Order: sequence, then C-alpha cells, then structure tokens
Amino acid sequence: MIEKYVDVIGEDELDAIFKIAEKIKDLSILHVNSTKAGGGVAEILNRMLPLMKELGLNVDWKVIRGDSEFFNVTKSFHNALQNGIGNIPSEYFKIYDKWQENNLSEIPLDYDIMFIHDPQPAGLIKFKKNNNKWIWRCHIDISNPYPPVWDFLRKYISQYDSVIISVPSFGRDDIEIPQFVIPPSIDPLSVKNRKIAETTILRILYKFGINPEKPLVTQVSRFDYAKDPLGVLQAYKLAKRHVDIQLLYVGSPATDDPEGEKVYNEVVKASEGDKDIHLLMLPPYSDLEINAFQSASSVVMQKSIKEGFGLTVSEAMWKRKPVIGGNTGGIPLQVINGVTGFLVNSPQGAAHYIIYLIRNKEVRNRLGLNAREHVRRNFLITRELRDYVMTIAYVSN
Ligand code: UDP
Repeated sequence: MIEKYVDVIGEDELDAIFKIAEKIKDLSILHVNSTKAGGGVAEILNRMLPLMKELGLNVDWKVIRGDSEFFNVTKSFHNALQNGIGNIPSEYFKIYDKWQENNLSEIPLDYDIMFIHDPQPAGLIKFKKNNNKWIWRCHIDISNPYPPVWDFLRKYISQYDSVIISVPSFGRDDIEIPQFVIPPSIDPLSVKNRKIAETTILRILYKFGINPEKPLVTQVSRFDYAKDPLGVLQAYKLAKRHVDIQLLYVGSPATDDPEGEKVYNEVVKASEGDKDIHLLMLPPYSDLEINAFQSASSVVMQKSIKEGFGLTVSEAMWKRKPVIGGNTGGIPLQVINGVTGFLVNSPQGAAHYIIYLIRNKEVRNRLGLNAREHVRRNFLITRELRDYVMTIAYVSN
C-alpha cells in the first residue's frame, strides 16, 4: 500500500523515508491523544499509524480516558491557550491532574518514544520513570496563551525532550527544549481525498438534498466558535444578495469537545428560513460524503478565527478548490493570498471573495490548480511521515 505513494511523490522520496525508518525500527513508539475520531489529530493518526507500521516501525496508539468534567476543563484550557483569555477556576488544575493519574492504568509509559498530542494528556510526563524520550506534539496555536494556563502546562512541557509545533510562529522562547516545526498533512489516497466518480458525488448531493446545479460554498468544521460558523453564515448572507449560491456547513461531534452542541444550536437558529443553507451533523468517518461535498463545491471556506493548522484547507485545495480562509494560525501556510485562495479577516471580506470567485470561473480554476500543486509539494502525508521519522531518529540519538 505504501508503494502506491510513488505515483504521487516519486521513488526517491519514498526510498528516503524507508532509509531513515530503517535506523529506528528497533524502537517502540506510542502516540497518545484524547479522541479516536473527530478533529484533525485523530484524522492524521488514523492515516499515519498504518503507514508507520508498513515502514516496519513498532508503533501503537492509545487514547486517554476522561469524564465530561475533564473534557470541560481541557476544552477551556484549549480556548485559553488559543485565544489568550480565560476564566479558569483553580479546581480545574486539580481536575486536570487527577485525570492524568486516572489514566495511568490505561496508558503504558515505557515505550522508547512517547508522542503526546496536545494539552489533554501532556501532564502524563510527571509519571515518567525511565529515560525514554517524550515529545509533545502541539497541534494548536500557543503563541499568545492565557498566562495562568500556559504557566501550569509549561511546568510539564519543560520536562519533555522536544516539542513539535505546526507553524513557525507558534514557537515559544520560554521553554528551553528543542522545538521542531512539522506542518500537518493530508493523505491523498484516503477515501476522504482520493478522486471519486462524478456519479458518486451526484448521488451524495441528492441524498442530502443539495442542488448540483447551483454553486455551492462549503465549510467542513466541528461546531466550534474558533471555526466561526456564525461568521460563515453572515458571509454567505451578504454574498447571497449578489450571487445565487447554496451554503453547506458540515460538522461532526468530537468526544473531547463538549461545546459542539451549544454551537450547533446557535447555527441552526441563524440558518432558519433559508432553503439554500444545508446544515449537516454527520457521524465521524463520513469520509466519502466529505470528499463529495468538497469536490462538488465551487468555493470552500475555512473562516477560522483561531486555527492550529486546518486540515480541511489542504483537503479542499487538493481537490483543486480555491479556499477563503481566516488569516490565522496554519491557514496562511496553505492559502497564499491571490495564488491558492484568499485570506480574510471578516465576514465582509469573505463575502467579497465569495462573490468574486463565484463570478469568475477562470480565476477559480487557476487558483484551484495552484492550490493542488502547493499541497502536493508541502502538505501530503508522506512529507509528514518523513519529518516524524527524522525527528524520532534525532531525539533517540
Ligand atoms: N471533519 C470530518 N467531518 C466533519 C468535520 C470535520 O470528517 O463533519 C474532518 C475534516 O475533514 C478534517 C478534520 O476533521 O480532516 C478537521 O481537522 P482540522 O485540522 O481542519 O480542524 P480541527 O477539528 O482539528 O480543529
């Protein structure tokens, strides 16, 4: 299966990955995160683990346990870290610590290489016993955190051997361990991203009542304020005065995101009365549907206000779609303004570019081609795999 990537990246690139992997094949590697499905981290791990195994690596993946109280705490930490604001009661820190300990029976800590993803399980490091290597893989924007939460977390992060961030500007000068920049990636051969037949796309559009004749503007995102779903609706409504379009907003629940339902209800309310707004809450692993929706769209949006990376941006770009993206986090790595899409800072800006792109098919096509090539060179899973393997080789030396 991994050989199939030769068609996309070439033989030399694949050989290089195998050569580096050979050096680390005796090491045991564990990935730990907080959800099996929903969101970008689970998406990457679901694709990356089988490939690592095919490289001959001894790799496993475990998910930490938690109750709703714990995930409320970690979601408020997440918001405080990304948005720089918060109101965190002191007992939240105790609840966080309690659940690190509760997870000791679930998560083995003695793999040679421990990849700990995001803040939720980061405190496990305090139970480190031997001199194995711990890497904190941070997928969120920590460049401007709410200090009390960052200071609490930093005590743990400082004990790691290294940190991986997604975007150079997320780097911190208040931790002394090495920081590597590894942008996330998409899998071009997955059900979500491979080319699918036009008839499949049409079948799925019909199933969800979407008109294949009317231009479609889509955002695929969890129902999270950081993804600005209400801003997406506002942009659509402004644009709709000038161009006849449909809006599709697709989200799915994530077990580690307790805010989703509240945000979903607000979006339902704001969409009432407009038959051209399609609001879908799909189960996880609806990859074929997501593929069809992205493929059928004229324009894809990712109007985030805060974003770690935004896999949905690369997913759409790979399908040759121009993306209107919020000018934040990892989105500007992907959306090069005027070349692969447009960066915006407001619903008004987004509406402007929706109108422009809907009216200019030739521009859509040109940006779409650039977008695909930009992803091919920079954001495919084979590149991320090579970066991971190199990082493991480096820290284990
Ligand atoms: N996703 C999905 N169904 C949904 C919403 C999102 O499969 O209804 C996927 C999306 O295609 C992408 C991932 O979840 O692969 C979201 O990753 P991203 O980095 O964009 O955002 P995150 O949720 O990690 O903040």
